[in-house]
Amino acid sequence: PVPVICIDGPTASGKGTLASEVARRLGYHYLDSGSLYRLTGLAARRAGLALENPDEARLSALARQLPVGFAGGHILLGQEDVGEAIRTEAAGMDASRVSALPGVRQALLELQRSCARLPGLVADGRDMGTVIFPHALLKVYLTAGSAQRAERRHKQLISKGIPAKLDGLRADLEARDARDQNRVASPLEPAQDALLLDNTHLTIEDSVDQVLRWWQE
Ligand code: C5P
Repeated sequence: PVPVICIDGPTASGKGTLASEVARRLGYHYLDSGSLYRLTGLAARRAGLALENPDEARLSALARQLPVGFAGGHILLGQEDVGEAIRTEAAGMDASRVSALPGVRQALLELQRSCARLPGLVADGRDMGTVIFPHALLKVYLTAGSAQRAERRHKQLISKGIPAKLDGLRADLEARDARDQNRVASPLEPAQDALLLDNTHLTIEDSVDQVLRWWQE
């Protein structure tokens, strides 16, 4: 069996940074499952589909045939590099909208499971431990206070030259958390066997070390 480490948690908790660094240190593959929902949202916008009142059947078909490619650190939709386009706050909101649809989640399930390849996988998302990899050897549920998460996201955006307001960011991420937690399809919640890691007062290295210690136990 392929060893899998799941890192789930709310928006901007630092899952991506933690998971990709743990993967790098172990020489494992890395799955950023949120990017698949972001890609689906973007593909839907490009196809002119409304997301406020979504057509589940059409969106699920779109997700099933997503022309996605990962090449040399680039994320492709068809021939287009969409690495930046899927990272905007609007794309995050769209991802959250399409991810509430059970048909879309089902459409992306096998694609995610197929990422579990030797020597191992670190997967980050909302339902890695509860739905996609229920038998994973290590499940981490990563949290941080919403003020802290908004502040980190703010710094990240400003450093990329993207204008952002702290208050608006915090309100947006709380709205996204609420939608992720209250949806019927795979709501955001810790797996029963997940280990909780609150990184509000931890550095990235502290969190990486903690996860590697758990993995070695
Ligand atoms: O993690 P990221 O912010 O890129 O995810 C964008 C959105 O995609 C989340 O707000 C969530 O609604 C959805 N998502 C999900 N299940 C996952 C990963 C992301 O529902 N495994």
